[in-house]
Amino acid sequence: MYEWLIPLSYLISGIFFILSIRSLSSPYTAREGNIIGIIGMLIAIGAMLFSSFVIDIKAPLAFILMGGIIGFYSAIKVKMTALPQMIAVFNGLGGLSAVLISFSELLGGSPSLIEISLGMIIGAIAFTGSMIAFAKLQGILPTHAITFKFQHIINLLLIILCTYIFLLFISEKEFEYFLWICGISLIIGITFVLPIGGADMPVIISILNSYSGWAAVGIGFSLSNSLLIIVGSIVGASGAILAYIMVKAMNRSLLNVLLGGFGNQKYSTLKENENKIAKTGNPQDAAFIMENANKVIIVPGYGMAVAQAQHILRQMAEDLQKLYHVDVKFAIHPVAGRMPGHMNVLLAEANIDYQNVFELENINNEFETADVAYVIGANDITNPLAKTDSSSPIYGMPILNVSAAKTVFFVKRSLGAGYSGVDNPLFYADNTIMLYGDAKKVTEEIVNVLEKK
Ligand code: NDP
Repeated sequence: MYEWLIPLSYLISGIFFILSIRSLSSPYTAREGNIIGIIGMLIAIGAMLFSSFVIDIKAPLAFILMGGIIGFYSAIKVKMTALPQMIAVFNGLGGLSAVLISFSELLGGSPSLIEISLGMIIGAIAFTGSMIAFAKLQGILPTHAITFKFQHIINLLLIILCTYIFLLFISEKEFEYFLWICGISLIIGITFVLPIGGADMPVIISILNSYSGWAAVGIGFSLSNSLLIIVGSIVGASGAILAYIMVKAMNRSLLNVLLGGFGNQKYSTLKENENKIAKTGNPQDAAFIMENANKVIIVPGYGMAVAQAQHILRQMAEDLQKLYHVDVKFAIHPVAGRMPGHMNVLLAEANIDYQNVFELENINNEFETADVAYVIGANDITNPLAKTDSSSPIYGMPILNVSAAKTVFFVKRSLGAGYSGVDNPLFYADNTIMLYGDAKKVTEEIVNVLEKK
């Protein structure tokens, strides 16, 4: 009776999703963005439940409940540092859904063969590609690029074969061809992601995210579902834009990332650093130097996330500002941590004033006038080899210029390398002092000293 309400509700929830993405783009409005997105999703689910697609409401309700429980449980259980893996799994599940829907549509007699096949191909690539990405990020497979002989030729042949069988399927409508396209696409997902590794993983996660969106668009066309088309386009476009932004931040080209193989050798500069000695300090020294400084720039990285040191870091920044009138700023590298926006999320969670948080391009010149760079759990994003050593897997990535500060504190547990496996020569620089220990503990001790005086 109220069937006309369904497309209207889809349109309204589509508008909510667009507004949600818009709000999510700034830390000031991100919470609102989340709520707007939740409302959009509730409208979409409600409309779907009352649409003519649903013959018996019990089945979708049961699946929504199951999915909801798994989602709720993962959101609570999964650690912040494991979010990229979780995103990879979710992308993969999106791709798998597209594959399953395409099969049910085809077997149900849908005439939209092109849309169904495209949705299935992209979904299958997103599914196996995301599973490989998950296995790499989780350490089940080696994180570096796994290359194999003739990889580009094999990938190209697979794509040509898939396209050929796709054309055969469109003209002859044989189900067997559809199965072949599905199998080849699943293999392409694997051969496409295996050779990508190291610091390129965040880019491939965004690309797979984009794929799962485009797969939804394909399925949306075959189901004539406007909401899937709108949401799929948002996911597809935003994933692609994010991949582009990250590639730019790492000074690479998208093609270069997609061809893979970058950083597949175990790289080490250890020999050159073997006889060098890194200066060691303690929290008392650090507190003394920082309280007497005019300007301190804090550089957070992955280790801050592992240690969950963001709250005590806010305390340290406030103490320096309020008790000692030091100008304190935070510098964020675009690929710091293990997911896009990782540091922004953690600093926002600790209520760090966003006016004091700066992106790389807006703060890099300020290190020259800083007395202290407090590098907490960060490594690759400060490594000068990214500028000088063309054989390094991080070559070309812009870095935060911490060495320009008068004193650089590195808060970490050892002289060990970061994600890329490249040793950092900055640890041995004249103006560097290593503060060994867990990021949270070291910062707590500094705060104790600052507050005792
Ligand atoms: P890195 O991985 O380069 O370095 C992190 C450092 O944190 C390590 O060297 C480690 O040293 C230290 N650390 C770990 N745990 C602790 C702890 N509890 N307390 C103190 N220190 C700790 O991180 P960066 O943030 O500098 O760089 C990010 C890297 O990750 C880049 O190479 C980037 O390309 C890559 N990447 C980024 C993604 C993104 O989207 N942001 C996604 C995937 C990869 P030690 O063991 O000595 O303590």
